[in-house]
Amino acid sequence: MSAHLTTVAGVAVDTRHWIGGERVASTDTFTDVSPIDGAPLGEISRATASEAAAAVAAAKAAFPGWAATPRAERARLLHAVAAGVERRAEELALVETTDNGALLRSHRRGVMPRVAHNFRFFADRLLGLEHEDFTTRDHTNHVTWDPAGPCVLITPWNAPLMLATWKVAPALAAGNTVVLKPAEWTPLTASLLADIAAEAGLPPGVLNVVQGYGAEIGDALTGHPDVRRISFTGSVPTARHIAARAAANLTPLSLELGGKSPLLVFADADLDLAVDLAVEQYDNAGQVCLAATRLLVEEAVAEEFLHRFVAKASGLRQGDPREEGTDIGPTIHPRQLEKIDGFVQRARAAGARAVIGGHRGPGQYYAPTLLTGVRQDSEVVQEEVFGPVLTLQTFRTEDEAVALANDTRFGLAATLATGDRERADRVTARLVAGTVWVNCFFVRDLRAPFGGSRRSGVGREGDVWSFDFFCDLKNTVTAPKGWQDHG
Ligand code: NAD
Repeated sequence: MSAHLTTVAGVAVDTRHWIGGERVASTDTFTDVSPIDGAPLGEISRATASEAAAAVAAAKAAFPGWAATPRAERARLLHAVAAGVERRAEELALVETTDNGALLRSHRRGVMPRVAHNFRFFADRLLGLEHEDFTTRDHTNHVTWDPAGPCVLITPWNAPLMLATWKVAPALAAGNTVVLKPAEWTPLTASLLADIAAEAGLPPGVLNVVQGYGAEIGDALTGHPDVRRISFTGSVPTARHIAARAAANLTPLSLELGGKSPLLVFADADLDLAVDLAVEQYDNAGQVCLAATRLLVEEAVAEEFLHRFVAKASGLRQGDPREEGTDIGPTIHPRQLEKIDGFVQRARAAGARAVIGGHRGPGQYYAPTLLTGVRQDSEVVQEEVFGPVLTLQTFRTEDEAVALANDTRFGLAATLATGDRERADRVTARLVAGTVWVNCFFVRDLRAPFGGSRRSGVGREGDVWSFDFFCDLKNTVTAPKGWQDHG
């Protein structure tokens, strides 16, 4: 076996970058480790700034050819990538779970089908992308979505391939070329995607993948003058840094950032449903940007809610994410575990009570935790923990519920449990959030806009909004006169 291949869950993964249609090795490497058991998974090429710049150069060189490729052909190739993802879905699921610790059953049933759908959806959407012509004093206005150029896509570790392809697919459909930089804790499925794209026949340089540390190669990517778009999903501090780098070239940015979303439970709600929704927030060990980590419960039902919540949460099975019966896997990294525990212990020192959890599990696991007795202005209520840690607060009136819900610097999502339709409409209208779920959670559709308000992000992804971001929109105004008559 090549020195550049590593076998993960029985799947061969190339550890090198993918630049200009070739595998490129760095002199230096970093060790990728599984969060499940700490086992090393491979020595991954660790890009330098000049390798990152080489990837941008490859994307730049491939851009004119790809931009000129007819829409139907681009769409055909993206469908071929989707077919490759579908063919290798089981391998992708196994590798992703081993690399990031999220549940194998979720990767099998939800995530990998969605990865393929990302490609199919934007391929089809591209073919229907048009704006009806209109006239201004007999002049015709015609709007087109022109490819913008090389794009840099930077993604996090909590849903690696799903989040990466949500950007890769529309960027490529739009006629752009891309440099994808996956998170250093979860680089493996991006490498498999490069294989799949090559097998599907994507021309060299259209998709490039560079692996490495954001702090080492980020600036070379985000500050590069040839980059026409930067799309980033990750944390607020990194976003701030990237935005400052992008400012030098005024490179347009899309930012999908953190959250501190509320779940509002009104006394008129189906309480069992509300409890199910609350317990669901421990999914992926709470490492979900959308997680409704602040439970806001109407005082009249708070005691009963808490009673049923504890009963339900106590039944959660924490353990190996590859096993079918597991509900919660490990946290991604010892550093993340440390960070989560820091939040919990500081909250306790400030007077919070851990009704359940409040401690590390064995290894890299953190016990599902619910904190009560927290103040609205406290750190654990205001800052994103990104772990299986929920807080519970009560309210008496609808006004108070809305005030608490909106009182953070984030605005990614909100979930409502109520049996009253009018209340749902009233409250929804007042919430600051990119997505509101009423009596449900995590129902998502690429036809909907997705993104956050305030510090949760800039811009929206999905449907035409992705094309609006990834394209240079052009309006052509044509006069009715001035044509030479060859008739
Ligand atoms: P992070 O900001 O630490 O890292 C994200 C990516 O940025 C990684 O690939 C990292 O290598 C890279 N990076 C780091 N420093 C960089 C730099 N200086 N220049 C360029 N790139 C750099 O975030 P994370 O810990 O990987 O992810 C967790 C965060 O992502 C949470 O805040 C979570 O809420 C957020 N998130 C948001 C969404 C969303 O859609 N809104 C989805 C998932 C995760």
